[in-house]
Amino acid sequence: MKRVSGFIVAAAVITLLAAPYVTRPILAQSSVPAFSKTAGFADQLYVLDGGVGRNLTSVNWLSMLVPPATPIDISTYAHLIKHGDTWMMFDTSTSDVIATIPNGSPTSGVEGIRWMKTPGQTMTAQLKLVGITPADIKLIGISHQHPDHTGNVSLFKNSTVLIQRLEYEQMMAAGRSPQGPSPMQVPGAPITIFERNHPVRLLDGDYDVFGDGSVLLFYVGGHTVGSMVCLVHLKNTGYVLLSGDAVHFRSNFDTRRIPRLERANDENHWLWSVPIAFERVAALMSYYKAELWVHHDTEDYKGRKFAPKYYE
Ligand SMILES: [Zn+2]
Repeated sequence: MKRVSGFIVAAAVITLLAAPYVTRPILAQSSVPAFSKTAGFADQLYVLDGGVGRNLTSVNWLSMLVPPATPIDISTYAHLIKHGDTWMMFDTSTSDVIATIPNGSPTSGVEGIRWMKTPGQTMTAQLKLVGITPADIKLIGISHQHPDHTGNVSLFKNSTVLIQRLEYEQMMAAGRSPQGPSPMQVPGAPITIFERNHPVRLLDGDYDVFGDGSVLLFYVGGHTVGSMVCLVHLKNTGYVLLSGDAVHFRSNFDTRRIPRLERANDENHWLWSVPIAFERVAALMSYYKAELWVHHDTEDYKGRKFAPKYYE
């Protein structure tokens, strides 16, 4: 008996100690939360331009209504959100180190992507335009582990990274460096752009970042095992849904065509998981009347405001 109650006390103490780090799944993945009627607002949403990824051939993007062998540029961004006094980023773009390399990152052959950015497209330069520094960023939501989204996590040493547990565990498994072997590995760049000891909050499903429905992270999977999208509620703009890589080009989303590059992610069972991610994005757009911003589609961002201008 004594042993049992001792165990209960120990369990209670452990639970209390762990409480601040326990994440709050909102609803099961298959349903859409219904709290939009009382949702609060984020104050500002900024787009930070992270340069482009130059593809010599469209081979990886087939099934996206792109003619074969066409060179394609894909865009990469970070999104900065102000909520009260708190600054949050959703994705961090490619490593700023790339801006110091004259012709961008090396590629792995003709199918590889050459990432390029100018000094003006670094995160630090654009945060300066907004009047803040990397130290001011409290939270970073990560759509997924790939280095064109996690490239600058190490820049934000004071931030807590919000990432799906599945994604994080896969990323850190078997002694891999977090981003894995990658053509993004550029001379002079730190080998690990997402340090193992970087503070993280591991999420198990959907997550209400500020507890008021203003910024919601939704698990979608598909592109990677723990991919997320981010829904931002703004007073004048309405709901904006940041795609991460759940969708690559608007054309492939509108026609529900799976880009060839998804087939490299065998562990994700792309044949069923990518369409499920598409449908979840579609359900969120429909339920929240949200505008989808397609991260890698250069055309999609052409008319948008860039920092220091913002959406509110
Ligand atoms: Zn990407």
